[in-house]
Amino acid sequence: MSTTLDDVKYQVAIANRVLAELGLATGVLASLGHASMRVPSAPETFVVKGRGYRIDALAVMRPEDMVVCDLEGNKLDGPPGSTQCFEIKMHSCLYKARPDVQAVVHVHPRFTVLMSVLGAGLVPMCQEGIQPGQGLHRWACGEPFPVYPHARTVQTEEEGMEVARTLGDHVAVLLQGHGATTVGSSLEEAVMNMALLEEQARMNWYAWCAAGPDHPRIAPEQVVEMTGRTPLAELPHFREVLARRGEQPRVAGAWQYYVDRAARELR
Ligand SMILES: [Zn+2]
Repeated sequence: MSTTLDDVKYQVAIANRVLAELGLATGVLASLGHASMRVPSAPETFVVKGRGYRIDALAVMRPEDMVVCDLEGNKLDGPPGSTQCFEIKMHSCLYKARPDVQAVVHVHPRFTVLMSVLGAGLVPMCQEGIQPGQGLHRWACGEPFPVYPHARTVQTEEEGMEVARTLGDHVAVLLQGHGATTVGSSLEEAVMNMALLEEQARMNWYAWCAAGPDHPRIAPEQVVEMTGRTPLAELPHFREVLARRGEQPRVAGAWQYYVDRAARELR
């Protein structure tokens, strides 16, 4: 994949649109949240949704709307009248603290926020995202998501670095009463980690309502059962057909579906 600055702006605009398509930035949340990506050819800089547009909504972001920033959160480039997003320090501090991180997503997902205020630790309630190799597997194996215990927005260097310290080497940090921030080695990973986190939180809320705070969950031994399985390509009924295709089966259909939908409006 080509990674000129224009390509990065395009990818980041699409990722912001996908967040809206996924329902993570709609209604009163339409302008709240932002996806960003480190520029591969200039890793001390990143591209992010800004603020100050005539219509400021993730759903309508275009490549030319994107803002380029350095790791101090300074604006280096962007359309006239635009500013960095207000919580730019969350992005810049995460890129500074985590050289492995190539993309960051921050939104205010309703069920994740709700469960964080209730103080109810999230537990695995459905299969999506928790299988080996998927973003939430480590959490499903028993490592809770770290929680940043403040509802205020993240505006200063100190606050941004505190979020980064709280995140540690996890893929998601819950911002109590505010939102969540996810990271990844690509925009796809960061966006899908957020979508899957919110899906698990929604299922937790349903379970909490139906059966109270001590509701059942997918058992740890059921998570263990997901590891060490024979790859599909080695199963007799798949071996031949997958060899003919010459590639491993792709399981990431949702991301590509929403990217395609978002891209249609930019053509
Ligand atoms: Zn926020």
